[in-house]
Amino acid sequence: MRYSQLFTKTKPREPKDELTSNAKLLTRAGFVNKLMAGVYSYLPLGLRVINKIETIVREEMNAIGGQEVFLPALHPSENWKQTKGWDNIDILFKLKSRTNREYALGQSHEEVITPLFKEYATSYKDLPVAIYQIQQKFRDELRAKSGLLRGREFRMKDMYSWHLDQADFNRFYQVAKLAYLKIYQRAGLQAKVTEASGGSFSEKISYEFMVLTPAGEDDILYCDQCDYCINTEIAKDLKEESECPRCQKAKLQKARASEVGNVFDLGQKYTHDFDLKLADKNGLLVYPIMGCYGIGISRLMGVIAEALHDDKGLVWPETIAPFQVHLVGLNLDNSDVKKQAEAIYQKLTQEHIEVLFDDRLEATPGAKFADADLIGLPYRLLVSAKTGDKVEYKKRQLKDVKITSLENFLKECCQ
Ligand code: ATP
Ligand code: MG
Repeated sequence: MRYSQLFTKTKPREPKDELTSNAKLLTRAGFVNKLMAGVYSYLPLGLRVINKIETIVREEMNAIGGQEVFLPALHPSENWKQTKGWDNIDILFKLKSRTNREYALGQSHEEVITPLFKEYATSYKDLPVAIYQIQQKFRDELRAKSGLLRGREFRMKDMYSWHLDQADFNRFYQVAKLAYLKIYQRAGLQAKVTEASGGSFSEKISYEFMVLTPAGEDDILYCDQCDYCINTEIAKDLKEESECPRCQKAKLQKARASEVGNVFDLGQKYTHDFDLKLADKNGLLVYPIMGCYGIGISRLMGVIAEALHDDKGLVWPETIAPFQVHLVGLNLDNSDVKKQAEAIYQKLTQEHIEVLFDDRLEATPGAKFADADLIGLPYRLLVSAKTGDKVEYKKRQLKDVKITSLENFLKECCQ
């Protein structure tokens, strides 16, 4: 991609109405654009990041047997009345048609997926099953001041599974938890598995996946000697400095964190609500155990921006950077330099390396370097009158630059 053709431009100043680093940086760098509080457009750079996150999520969900679907966002009110969500869920957006029919915008999809699965399931032989989608969700959140961390319209991966009995659910719960940890690791984040209450399914334990960041909206207590971690909302008997109840080797520490995903044991709530019952091996009808598994795709992008940036801009991990290489051409009014920069751009493209080529004639070197730092691609590759038949490269998070041949750069990086 040529920077001169990218319709978005970096902004020299921070947006006035944003409080968090993710919103400030992603807006300035041209990844997102705010339509209104909690609602963002994803621009070419931002959408590439979202797509990369989604590819990782898809690969890991497919690897544990998830089957991908795409469900509607506009739901008939009847489905939400059947689970009592219509009256009990305060964040549910409700609409009325001109013929006075009532609808909800999907804030989650248990109400759609459960009757859908019921239509196809005939016996225990159809279990276990896991179905997922990646889609926009709508929630009437009271506060939407954290940029991508809390949207009123946001992107989520949601998976639902059904199991004949609790033992099979518990088995899959572990499999899903491990897949989640792999996803965060591949996206360059360290997530802590946090015990929390099951919310409206309160007697059950749920697990939240938390990334430490001051921009988060949750408080957790964690142990740095083992993997114990708990949400303070439910940790009644524990506080900061309490002894770790798991390893008893260290004192718990308190930190702010953002929930980038969670997994719930829904029990039989929805299978009862939609009367989904299947014959077991003995022909007896049972209500399957259901689980749900969410990942905030757009929140994850925001959390990565929060966790991985410096005072100059974003610092994307290679796995989800919109492009791998920021090719900066200087002195492009010199026809030899221009020819060389174009040849390098062609070569990288042929090698299937994703390149953002700053081919602008009018921008100063300082402006080009500042934009490269702000956008935050993993490698900055420089071609100028000074580099001759070599290239100069720099890793985004490091200070030192290296001068080498293009071949060496390709060998050392972008593998
Ligand atoms: P939270 O506690 O942050 O309100 P939640 O417990 O309501 O989230 P779920 O309904 O289980 O979350 O949604 C699954 C995932 O979707 C969450 O773990 C989070 O990563 C993401 N998510 C939830 N609400 C939002 C939102 N308003 N904006 C962006 N992402 C969200
Ligand atoms: Mg939560």
